Amino acid sequence: MQRFDVVSAARNWRFDGLPTPTPSDVVGEVFASDVLTLEELRQQLSKPAWKSLQATIQRGTAIDPAIADTVALAMKTWAMDKGATHYSHWFQPLTGATAEKHESFVAPTQNGNAISHFSGSELIQGEPDASSFPSGGLRQTFEARGYTAWDPTSPAFIVRHPNGATLCIPTAFASFTGEALDLKTPLLRSIHAVSAAAMKALTMFDIPQASKVVSTVGVEQEFFLIDEEFAMRRPDLLMTGRTLFGARPPRGQELEDHYFGSIPTRILTYLTDVEHQLYALGIPVKTRHNEVAPGQYEIAPMFEEANIAADHQQLTMQVLRNTARTYGLMCLTHEKPFAGINGSGKHVNWSIATDAGMNLLEPGETPRENMVFLFFCCAVLRAVDRHQDLLRACVASASNDHRLGANEAPPAIMSIFLGDELTQVFSQVVSGSTTAKRASGLLGLGTPVLPPLPLHSGDRNRTSPFAFTGNKFEFRAVGSDQSVSFPITVLNTIVAEAIDDLRMDVEAKMKKKKTFEAALHDALREAYTQHERIVFNGDGYSEEWQQEAERRGLLRLPTSLDAYDRLLDEKNVAVFERFSVLSKRELEARHEIFLDQYFKKVNIEGETAEWLAQTQILPSVLASMNQAVQVQSVGSRGVQHRIETLQVLFDEFYEALEVLRSRNMDLGGETLHSKSLHMRDRVLPALQALRRSTDRLERVCSYETWPLPGYREMLFVK
Ligand code: ADP
Ligand code: MG
Repeated sequence: MQRFDVVSAARNWRFDGLPTPTPSDVVGEVFASDVLTLEELRQQLSKPAWKSLQATIQRGTAIDPAIADTVALAMKTWAMDKGATHYSHWFQPLTGATAEKHESFVAPTQNGNAISHFSGSELIQGEPDASSFPSGGLRQTFEARGYTAWDPTSPAFIVRHPNGATLCIPTAFASFTGEALDLKTPLLRSIHAVSAAAMKALTMFDIPQASKVVSTVGVEQEFFLIDEEFAMRRPDLLMTGRTLFGARPPRGQELEDHYFGSIPTRILTYLTDVEHQLYALGIPVKTRHNEVAPGQYEIAPMFEEANIAADHQQLTMQVLRNTARTYGLMCLTHEKPFAGINGSGKHVNWSIATDAGMNLLEPGETPRENMVFLFFCCAVLRAVDRHQDLLRACVASASNDHRLGANEAPPAIMSIFLGDELTQVFSQVVSGSTTAKRASGLLGLGTPVLPPLPLHSGDRNRTSPFAFTGNKFEFRAVGSDQSVSFPITVLNTIVAEAIDDLRMDVEAKMKKKKTFEAALHDALREAYTQHERIVFNGDGYSEEWQQEAERRGLLRLPTSLDAYDRLLDEKNVAVFERFSVLSKRELEARHEIFLDQYFKKVNIEGETAEWLAQTQILPSVLASMNQAVQVQSVGSRGVQHRIETLQVLFDEFYEALEVLRSRNMDLGGETLHSKSLHMRDRVLPALQALRRSTDRLERVCSYETWPLPGYREMLFVK
């Protein structure tokens, strides 16, 4: 009765002996306690050394090697006080995960003792054996070396395990020829690009002085939690992150009782632990709630500067996954772990602000008169319309393909939700009307005991892949398992281009003796008229939108492979090169790695499904048949019917398995392109067909011998 053991293991889960942090500890002592904050560093450094480091951090000047030793010593002292025995350059290779190689602080001396050691050169530059990271051809094997370079703009932090700790130093990862082999380097370049473009544009406006513009990012992370006892018995989850089989249970998410429901105690205990660790890492987690699907949850932090937000996002995923084990859970960050219910996304909230604290996408009380807002918002419209393909490509992955366009997820067509009020404001800009009317007032709730609520102009639309939400844009097509770095890199770069172009439009008109106001107005009118087609406030999940989008000439790139092919289009190479974010070679390398990852991921799914079907499902079906055959002599009509039903389903299943087996044998040719197409057009459909017949069998075969925990257990036993 193995199955029931599994369920009872989950049911009997208990956890004793948890530390209970008090709220004042969290605020006073815990928050950022494992982060080497700037304040901490300042205290440890001499004045000149601090000044020099500050210039590096704030203005991006190169680090002065002369102060590197001092900074390294300060870091080592701080880290060892915190219990760290090792340090690691922490970087983000193109796999989308993070990488670390630990080095001990301990160094032996000649007299047989040991001292602790960490030099400036070790801080500034490391050389992991990089030959096994994907480079997309950027690194020939004969010059396989890659190096990591300290990113002083993101603070170092401590990662703990039960009997030790490691100092992690955020670094960029590049080849010796200077080409970016990671996700951080282009992100940093794009942050610079959008800052420079926005600063130039801001000189046209009369606003408070600023020395730079930062992109701000807050990321909502969705994920599933299931009992580890189930997960461990699902080879598909362990190998691919998603269930390749599993019949839909009688109940899914249709009762809509999970969303924002009370959080189960075990989950809340786990989340509290996760949050506590994230606080120590200085990650400002703010909200937590149940998501729509059973077993699905979300946490989100306060927004931060893009580079730090991206590092923090990786750490958040890491802590979510690592902590789950302590609670007998497994955290699934895959975009579509379960068929038939919602998948998981990662909503990337994004804006740009001056370092003086002015959010450039804040419409204020009267957006019609807010020229700064209209200018930057219009630039975003232009950027998204022009580069729909890039935005689609930067969220593309084999796993996100299952989500985009499926249950309650944004379609694979890019559009912007602006909301009625702002759409009206832009229409007024086009028509030249100046009645700046704001619809909002107070919303009465019809009973005197409740206070009147302000009527929110930024009404919500959950179906848009890219929505304006009050004072920021929310990019919702990003997948839950992805690094946010490339999506933010794309966003920053294409917006930098649009800002620059819009500014040049205005300047050209001013040269023709127009006043600034008139020139700006004309430029906005032209840009909005040209890009209005990208604005869509309706239901993005509807069938009508697909047709409407086609009428408007918007791009529809249903699968990742359609999107990847666009990466190397001339206009896309041009925009990355113009802002020195990615060279053509670097972009080609990414294109190659994306294809390679796609191919490998689907290949692994195909192999896993075949193996599982052959060694676990097939024997289990035979056992069910055998059970029936053994009582055939009873002569019951029911028994006969069961045998026949099983026979039909089994043959169907077996045929599907044979098809998948033969397609798995074939890798689809020589090029990455043909191999990926083979995976998409041959392996995935065969996998899908095998799944359909397996899921039918699951509903018929004996529960006791079925080898895999089912959806109804995984999603509902908490
Ligand atoms: P929602 O209503 O979409 O659930 P919230 O308004 O609570 O969301 O914000 C979601 C995320 O957006 C949070 O991480 C928040 O910090 C972030 N956010 C808010 N303002 C900005 C901004 N100006 N730039 C970037 N992110 C922001
Ligand atoms: Mg949101």
